[in-house]
Amino acid sequence: METMHKIDMHTHLLPERLPNFADKFGYGDFIHLQHHRPGFARMMKGDVFFREIKSNCWDPAVRIPEYAQYKTPVQVVCTIPVMFSYWAKPADCLDLSMFLNDHLAGVVEDYPEHYMALGTIPMQDTDLAVRELQRLKELGFPGVQIGSNVNRLNLSEPQFFPIFEACRDLDMAILVHPWEMMGQSDMSKYWLPWLVGMPAETSRAVCSLIFGGVMERLPDLRFCFAHAGGSFIPTIGRVQHGFDCRPDLVAVDNAVPPRDYLGRFWVDSATHDPQLLRYILEVIGDEKVCLGTDYPFPLGDLEIGRFIGEMGLPASTLEKIFYKNTIDWLHGKQAGG
Ligand SMILES: [Zn+2]
Repeated sequence: METMHKIDMHTHLLPERLPNFADKFGYGDFIHLQHHRPGFARMMKGDVFFREIKSNCWDPAVRIPEYAQYKTPVQVVCTIPVMFSYWAKPADCLDLSMFLNDHLAGVVEDYPEHYMALGTIPMQDTDLAVRELQRLKELGFPGVQIGSNVNRLNLSEPQFFPIFEACRDLDMAILVHPWEMMGQSDMSKYWLPWLVGMPAETSRAVCSLIFGGVMERLPDLRFCFAHAGGSFIPTIGRVQHGFDCRPDLVAVDNAVPPRDYLGRFWVDSATHDPQLLRYILEVIGDEKVCLGTDYPFPLGDLEIGRFIGEMGLPASTLEKIFYKNTIDWLHGKQAGG
């Protein structure tokens, strides 16, 4: 246990300095950073305060000892979903994506033992997204992170299919992360977009990719869903029953039952709930759950999977969750040995 290798496959990292994209492009509520005191910065969306972040959100060197406390040498980093900027003009989103991706590539180059990275792509423009995917492949990225919806469009929309095909052809894994939560404007109180909207967004993405036939048509494409798949796995009984009782509504584009896809995609372990994680392991198998924490944000599993180590799982299962499944998902691309 003490020496078991660990990879955290769901963590976020930003560059310390962001260009002022709103000035550069002449429009839009692009995120910029206000470094207002040492070690802290405000993420601003246009003029609106979005979130305060600490240096562990931008300083790769600060994170390594924080992770060492939990005996986890390797982090898979990706941008913060609010940076996706799918709403922007495609060429500008490409420009922003390239800036973020080049930064992540630099972090991996500087700390090859400690970091791997997932890129970001302009999902709102199929051709530009594929072009950036090809560049990411050349830069050595094992995959990308995408949003659960793209300007409110579901991932089953035909315009996204060539992007998924390109990921398959380029052997790139995909992390689907909730963002721009449905119903957000109706439930701003009590942090409901994060507590209610995010799990629903992720289930929306899983259901869209299953019912839209994307997973069926691209069986080799390797999807992983954040936050243990959101509400999808806990509600699989309902989803399957809906498919059975109203195929006229549900089975219109894919005749394969949703339960058949359990075990065909990966999820992270960020449940904060050993009972739920046990259920998920039972339902999708112990080869499809990866240690993933959402570090460094407060809703993340900031003890880096400590609760998993205390669940009494067999060592062989722990090995799979802690690193083997992530290596599988990313097709053997690993740092830190
Ligand atoms: Zn996250």
